[in-house]
Amino acid sequence: MPPSNRSPTATAANGTDDPSTPSAVLHRHLHHRPLRITSSHGLYLTTSTGQRILDATSGAAVTSLGHGNPRVQSAMVAQMNQVSYCHSLFFSTTAAEDLCAELIRGTDGAMARALIVSSGSEAMEGAMKLARQYWVERGEGARRTGFVAREGSYHGVTLGALAVGGHVLRKEKFAPLLGVEVGRVGRCDAYRGMREGEGEGEYVGRLARELEEELRRVGPETVCAFVAEPVVGAATGCVPAVPGYFKAIREVCDKYGILLILDEVMCGMGRCGTLHAWQQEGIVPDIQTIGKGLGSGYSPVAGLLMNQRVVDALDRGTGAFTHGQTYQGHPIACAAALETQKILQEEKLVDNVREMGLVLEKLLKEGLEDHPHIGNIRGKGLFWGIEFVQDKATKAPFEPSEAISAGIHEKGMEEKYSISLYPGSGTADGRKGDHIMVCPPFIVTPADIEEIVRITVKVIEDFFQERA
Ligand code: PLP
Repeated sequence: MPPSNRSPTATAANGTDDPSTPSAVLHRHLHHRPLRITSSHGLYLTTSTGQRILDATSGAAVTSLGHGNPRVQSAMVAQMNQVSYCHSLFFSTTAAEDLCAELIRGTDGAMARALIVSSGSEAMEGAMKLARQYWVERGEGARRTGFVAREGSYHGVTLGALAVGGHVLRKEKFAPLLGVEVGRVGRCDAYRGMREGEGEGEYVGRLARELEEELRRVGPETVCAFVAEPVVGAATGCVPAVPGYFKAIREVCDKYGILLILDEVMCGMGRCGTLHAWQQEGIVPDIQTIGKGLGSGYSPVAGLLMNQRVVDALDRGTGAFTHGQTYQGHPIACAAALETQKILQEEKLVDNVREMGLVLEKLLKEGLEDHPHIGNIRGKGLFWGIEFVQDKATKAPFEPSEAISAGIHEKGMEEKYSISLYPGSGTADGRKGDHIMVCPPFIVTPADIEEIVRITVKVIEDFFQERA
C-alpha cells in the first residue's frame, strides 16, 4: 500500500539510478528516485550504494522475523524441491494442511477453518464474500447485501475492500466503487474521538449506540457484517480501541444477528503482543483476516479464518465456499508461513513483542512526548504510532501541502540517519493529519530499541528544527 498520497518535499538521490523504471507512473515511490535494495540481514536493508538502513517498520509491519532467516529460506527451498505449485482444487500439500491446522490451533479452537490466499486485500475480499455467502446459505441472501464499517480504516486496494475502508484519500478517486452498500460509523480513537470529560466507559457506550443507530438507519436485516481493525494500522497509525469497545460492539452485532469481521492483516500474527489482537479484547470474531506477519515477507501470503457458525452455514447449505483462486494455498507461501509460525513459537517471539513493546513505549514517550508537534503516541506490542500536530493544545493538524509525515520519512532516509519510518496521512479527519509508525521486527533486543528510538527522536527533532 502506498504510505502517503502526497508528494515528498525533498528528493533522495542516494542508491538510485534512472527513475523512469518500467513501473513508473503505475507505481509511485515515496522517493522520486527509489533506493535500490541489494542485500538484507536482520533489521537492516542495504542499498546498491552501500547505505545500511535500519528497517524500523518491518517493511509495512511485515518482516516479523527480520531479514534473511535461514530456517525460512531452507523450508521454502525444501518445499520447492517437493512441489512448487499444484492447483488447490485438485491437490493438497502437507505445508498447506499443516499451516491451516497450526492457524486453527493458535486460536484455541475459537476458529474452525482457514483459507490461505496471497495478500491482505484478497483476504478481505474473501471475508466479505464469505459473509455474503453465509446469508445466502441461510436464505437471506437477497436482502443481506450491505456492510457497516468505520471511518479512518484501511482494508485493502481491491474495490470491495476499498468500499468498506474508510480512508478518504485512498478511495475517493474510485467512487462509486462496486456499489457495495456500506453504513459508516466513527472510529474508536481515545485521542481524537473522546470528548472533554468523557470517561472510557461513556465513550464506548456512545460508540455502541452509534453503531446501533446506524444499523437501524440502514435496516439491520440488510447487513451481512460489521468490519473493523482491532488496532487500526496504516489509516490512522496504530490506534488501539479503548478497553471494552469490542465487547460492546460484539454485543450489538449479536443483538442484530450480524457477523463480525475483524481485519488483522496488519495488527495480527503477534504484532500487538498476542497471536491475534482480538485475544486481548475478550471476544471472538466470526471471520478474521490475517496477512503481513503471517509469512514475515518471505512469500506473499495472507489468510482468512472463520468460526464454526460460518462453517455450519456452508455445511448445511451448498457445502463449500464459492471462491477459488489460482494461487490459493500456494505450497511455497504455506511453507514460508508455517516455518515462520514455528519459529515464532519456538523462540517465544510473541513474548518478546510484549516485553520489547514496553521498552519501546517507555523510550518513545520519554523521548518525544514533550515535543511541541507531537500530539499523541499510542500503540500495542511492537506497533506504535506517533501523531503530529501543528498545535498541541488544539490538536490542529498540519495542512496536507506541508507533507509532514512524508518529509519525516524522507529525512530518516538521509545517510546520516538511515532509518525507515512508516509515514501516513489523513490521521485527523481523513484528509488532514500526519503520523508515522514504528513497528520493528519481533527479534529486536533492548539495544535495538534504544537505537531505533535514539535515531527516530533525532530525525523528528531535526526535521522540525530545520522547518522552523
Ligand atoms: N487490511 C489492513 C488492515 C491493512 O493494513 C492492509 C495493508 O496494509 C490490507 C488489509 C491489505 O493488505 P495487502 O496490502 O496485503 O493487500
